[in-house]
Amino acid sequence: MAKKTKRKIAHPKWPMQRQLNLQHEGKYFDLRGNFDRLNERFFRGRLRGYKVMWGRKRKRRPKEYFIFGTIQEEDRVIRINPLLDQPFVPPWFLRYILYHEMLHAVVPDEPGANGRRRVHTELFYEREREFPGYRRARRWEEDNLARFLR
Ligand SMILES: [Zn+2]
Repeated sequence: MAKKTKRKIAHPKWPMQRQLNLQHEGKYFDLRGNFDRLNERFFRGRLRGYKVMWGRKRKRRPKEYFIFGTIQEEDRVIRINPLLDQPFVPPWFLRYILYHEMLHAVVPDEPGANGRRRVHTELFYEREREFPGYRRARRWEEDNLARFLR
């Protein structure tokens, strides 16, 4: 699929409405539409009441590792790192990141060592590998990680 560039909004909106839309509308990717399609296709629409939004822009890029996305189960918020909203990021990679976070909503965590919960369980990784283009996405992540770090 070709990269979709968001059409500029032609109609002015009320400030509040605009602010709310910007939570999921990026410059290049719209998180809501991608979330909804993934939800239908892979989760039978099971993820209900979730908000999906671009996270805050950080002043400095991390040096060591990069957090592409997070999920907050208690209030059902998925946040995607805004550095992914760039033209060099393939849409299928963004969808993979989104899928990963969505998967956390349906795969239960397990007790792990030292009393912490394990969220990336065997079952989780199994389901993750079912994502079409999983390998391609992982390879892209490896090859391009440096572009997100400083
Ligand atoms: Zn995860």
